[in-house]
Amino acid sequence: MSQADQIKVPMLDLQAQFASVRGEIMPRVQEIFEKQSFILGPAVSGVEAELADYLGVKCAVGVSSGTDALLLALMALGVGPGDGVITTPFTFFATVGSIVRLGATPLFADIDPVSFNIDPAQVERLLASDLPVKPKALIPVHLFGQPADMTPLLELAQAHDLKLIEDAAQAIGCSYATAGHERPTMIGGLGHAGCFSFFPSKNLGGAGDGGLVTTNDEELGRRMLSMRTHGSHPNEKYRHIHIGGNFRLDALQAVVVSAKLPHLDDWSRARRANAADYRRLLTEAGLVERGLVSPPVELWPENWRGHIYNQFVPRVKERDGLLAALGAAGVGCAVYYPIPMHLLECFAYLGGREGQLPVAEQASREVLALPVYPELTMAQKERVVQVIADFYGR
Ligand SMILES: *Cc1c(COP(=O)(O)O)cnc(C)c1O
Repeated sequence: MSQADQIKVPMLDLQAQFASVRGEIMPRVQEIFEKQSFILGPAVSGVEAELADYLGVKCAVGVSSGTDALLLALMALGVGPGDGVITTPFTFFATVGSIVRLGATPLFADIDPVSFNIDPAQVERLLASDLPVKPKALIPVHLFGQPADMTPLLELAQAHDLKLIEDAAQAIGCSYATAGHERPTMIGGLGHAGCFSFFPSKNLGGAGDGGLVTTNDEELGRRMLSMRTHGSHPNEKYRHIHIGGNFRLDALQAVVVSAKLPHLDDWSRARRANAADYRRLLTEAGLVERGLVSPPVELWPENWRGHIYNQFVPRVKERDGLLAALGAAGVGCAVYYPIPMHLLECFAYLGGREGQLPVAEQASREVLALPVYPELTMAQKERVVQVIADFYGR
């Protein structure tokens, strides 16, 4: 075995990240324990204010997960039975699960083959077609850390009176330049509501589950704040003004996220540098030219926040063979996502069928996420590309 053969590359190395921020996190965690102040309080309102400032939004409401962020936003916007919600079939389950849990109907628009994000032209086509339910909301997902093409989506939402909810679970720290604005707007501040996740594998991860909903609509912000705690009145205990739930962010998660937030932009830059290195190494190995590996395309390369690489996801030939070869060589990799939402068995009642959304279906057969976490070393990146080159050169 050569030395290179012994380099292991995990999909994610959270221990490496923790080692770099332990001194900032642990005293704050300790303080929560000393005070036994686990529910809401200054820890939660503090991180909410920091995140509202970072994201440039009026309201930020800490919640129990990214899934609950979506659920709460949809509930607060009044989405329910009889409503249609337009979204992408190429996403994590929670995007669609939240819609159906409220009795609403997901309406799938196919994706753009380059960005893997919802294709505005397909949304337009869907809106012009004969639909089983009246669309009330639109949920684009900023997949893998690159914004969906928001200008046409915002125009369609406005023209059709749709509530626009950004699923920004994979895209904290991204921005998008809308027409008419000089500076790009941070993701999460573009639509009626933005939903984030602090799941440990997201770019800003907590020590467990957590999430955030953002909005610039102060009335909606107040409603979500109330609905997060069973719809309670802001000052009067046991008086409930909405039907909400328990969607609170834990104080422990709040201090972890707060301690990590100042590092987020550095981590995003490191992820981008890794992506650039992969692109160069894959090209130098001849894999791009031979059409074996097609690296992800940055739609807005001039904006450093235009892609923050929660995942680095090329399309590859012989995906499942390569997946096995990388696994056997000790290189972590994963498929996001192997089954598009319309083909999931639990959504069979919606009548989805093979061939209905061909771009998403093809993507689900060709994508392969490679490790891109900030602490990755050059030797590890070289090792990943070497294993890929060896697989195709076999
Ligand atoms: C992670 C994720 C969610 C859900 O977030 P949780 O915190 O795990 O509940 C929703 N949508 C997308 C696109 C995600 O990647």
